[in-house]
Amino acid sequence: MKYQRPKGTADILPGDSEKWQYVEQTARQVFKTYQFKEIRTPMFENFEVFSRSAGDTSDIVTKEMYDFHDKGDRHVTLRPEGTAGVVRAFVENKLYGPQVLKPYKVYYMGPMFRYERPQSGRLREFHQLGVEAFGSESAALDVEVIAMGFHLLKQFGLNDLKLVINTLGDQATRDAYRQALIDYLEPHFDELSDDSKARLHKNPLRVLDSKAPEDQAFVADAPSILDYLTPEAQTHFDQAKAYLDALDIPYEIDATMVRGLDYYNHTIFEIMTHSKALGRGYTTICAGGRYNGLVKELGGPEVSGVGFGLGVERLLVLMDAEKVAMPTDDQLDVYVVGIGDNASVTTLKLVQAVRNAGYTAERDYLDRKPKAQFKSADRLNARYTMTVGDTEIADQVVNLKDMATGKEQQVAMADVAATLKALLASH
Ligand code: ATP
Ligand code: MG
Repeated sequence: MKYQRPKGTADILPGDSEKWQYVEQTARQVFKTYQFKEIRTPMFENFEVFSRSAGDTSDIVTKEMYDFHDKGDRHVTLRPEGTAGVVRAFVENKLYGPQVLKPYKVYYMGPMFRYERPQSGRLREFHQLGVEAFGSESAALDVEVIAMGFHLLKQFGLNDLKLVINTLGDQATRDAYRQALIDYLEPHFDELSDDSKARLHKNPLRVLDSKAPEDQAFVADAPSILDYLTPEAQTHFDQAKAYLDALDIPYEIDATMVRGLDYYNHTIFEIMTHSKALGRGYTTICAGGRYNGLVKELGGPEVSGVGFGLGVERLLVLMDAEKVAMPTDDQLDVYVVGIGDNASVTTLKLVQAVRNAGYTAERDYLDRKPKAQFKSADRLNARYTMTVGDTEIADQVVNLKDMATGKEQQVAMADVAATLKALLASH
């Protein structure tokens, strides 16, 4: 029997995992400057957490859910996205309470699961970094979140970015626009894709998000939500645009952008990049928006939220394509070379002493000759080798060699840690 990883999953091996660590560390640093703290929620939730939040006409819920009944017959879902679980946790832990500072700002990073057709940058288990901020209706917070997404992508060395924004307005806006869309699409009902036929009356905004070619012509000429904004919704959108202008963040407005999830209102946005690595045209790498009704939908009080999610696999494909230099951790501090049968215990103690002092150390475990051990030291890019044979053991010293200069010195075994500390301090 030959085992293979499940379709649409990936093994992240050493050599690549360093890149993931770099991305995660960089994100943590950026999030910290904006005062977002990490939240960790379960990898699976009750099915309703997602069906209620993402909307039961969304692609995610209708086609892409990894849901199943567990042995206790509970209907659970591997999380397809991060926001719903965070909102569930926000409500369950009463993070809206008076003792909690507002806005409440959190970030998460981890795997998400969607049953999709795997292709470049599209997997069944993929990873997102995301942020959520609760408890302020200010458009300044929308823009802080957008600016943070931009900041992050710039920090990752990506510069060919395009910000596209839209507004979905408030409830009154949605209601008016919904009717306008139905009126516009109904005469073309027979020409729509099957998905769009099914969604037209339940949720006509979904039709705008359709990827089916037969729907595209109607999307292009659809009425614009911008013509249906209430004065309040217009003000919020105008403020968001003014704040973006103030930060010199360029943007385009796409009035047909609705995003794949039902819970958004007011400002929504996508940050796109143009890269052949991810196929033709623009690809969305970071997407999000405001969701003022979601906390209530999941059983909490009326508390607003805004956030984004960013796909890590797509980010890494882009960083590779753009040849972004990532720091690689490929230096070893010390390789201990043991000569002869008697050196084994001393070698063991020496690597342990070096590691206890906080430095990286490696040795041979295959009884190889000194020459082969030095070769390993080279391959591992060792800064120093420490050689011990019968003479050194008798004298309780090691032969310490600087691999860059070739300079050698004898160091008392008792002084190994202190000597390394002095030498490596300059690196
Ligand atoms: P798309 O239109 O490409 O399917 P989406 O609207 O489903 O994207 P979101 O739900 O907004 O995507 O997720 C945010 C980000 O997560 C995306 O911009 C993308 O970078 C990433 N992403 C989404 N689905 C996948 C997947 N199956 N594999 C890898 N990354 C993904
Ligand atoms: Mg999708």
